[in-house]
Amino acid sequence: MDRLAIVVPCYNEEEVLKLASEALRGVLEDLVRKEKIAPDSFILFVNDGSRDRTWELIEEEHAAYPVQVSGVKLAGNVGHQFALTAGLITAMEMSDVTVSIDADLQDDVDVIEEMIDKFHAGKDIVYGVRRERRTDTFFKRTSAQAFYKLMGLMGVKTVYNHADFRLMSRRAVEEFSKYKETNLFLRGMMPLIGYQTDSVYYDRKERAAGESKYPLKKMLALAFNGISSFSVKPISMILGIGLLIILVSLLALAYALFSYFTGHVVQGWTSLILSIWFLGGLQLLAIGMVGQYIGKIYIEVKQRPRYNIEKVLSSIEIPEKSGREAP
Ligand code: UDP
Ligand code: MG
Repeated sequence: MDRLAIVVPCYNEEEVLKLASEALRGVLEDLVRKEKIAPDSFILFVNDGSRDRTWELIEEEHAAYPVQVSGVKLAGNVGHQFALTAGLITAMEMSDVTVSIDADLQDDVDVIEEMIDKFHAGKDIVYGVRRERRTDTFFKRTSAQAFYKLMGLMGVKTVYNHADFRLMSRRAVEEFSKYKETNLFLRGMMPLIGYQTDSVYYDRKERAAGESKYPLKKMLALAFNGISSFSVKPISMILGIGLLIILVSLLALAYALFSYFTGHVVQGWTSLILSIWFLGGLQLLAIGMVGQYIGKIYIEVKQRPRYNIEKVLSSIEIPEKSGREAP
């Protein structure tokens, strides 16, 4: 039977930690009883350099439930995306399948069962998708929607209304671990892994306790990071604008010459206006061209895997990846 690891990044979560542990242990117990996961499945709390009693509480939970509760302590605060990555990669060696979820219980723990069912049906990544955002403030809702729209426009593939509540099979996490980039935007990386994916839907609840650790500043940083880590479109846009302005300068040429010959101009205007438009366009074009190379360098230095081979048919024996058993 498959061993499940539930990975929970925690930053200053002393108010919800026990609640989260209790709720998630409930889920584990239920799934073990239904024989959907192995009895030694566990929760992995990742303490992201909390300054409150979060780690002490994790230690207490581990002492009380040594099998069900494990913990990882990061030496300092590295932020949600890195903390989650640390948890996933630690869990990779210890489990067959992982589910990542926030500590605040905003995501519905009851759909984990559905995720596991989809995993058993052969899916490698199962996205938890929020059905609606009734409990979010108007501001959070609209800003989040604008965020997904903008990402789409910039050519970053993401799953709409999916945050970081997701199931990943061991081989999906292994593939993910090959992405060595430091500018992490997990939601954008998952679709690059490939394999069969699916979604489960739920209503997002209010935080069980404590405050959001994602103020507007961090949200904007995440959005900017998402775009700038995935897309070279902004550079291409500069190039496009440069070309456009050079085109406009040709029109301006026609207009200026026309004005010059019909005599309605101040001395020096024609050459001045033409230089402004043409040089402006030329400069943008040049910046855009240089940008194209920088864009390529940026894609090269990421050294992302170029493909992910799922299966090979051959009579020659090749070692299998730690694969899933046939469903
Ligand atoms: N988190 C973290 N490190 C940070 C900030 C947040 O590990 O620097 C964790 C936090 O403990 C929570 C999750 O990331 O489990 C999501 O944060 P939060 O619920 O505050 O974000 P929101 O739901 O308000 O966007
Ligand atoms: Mg939250």
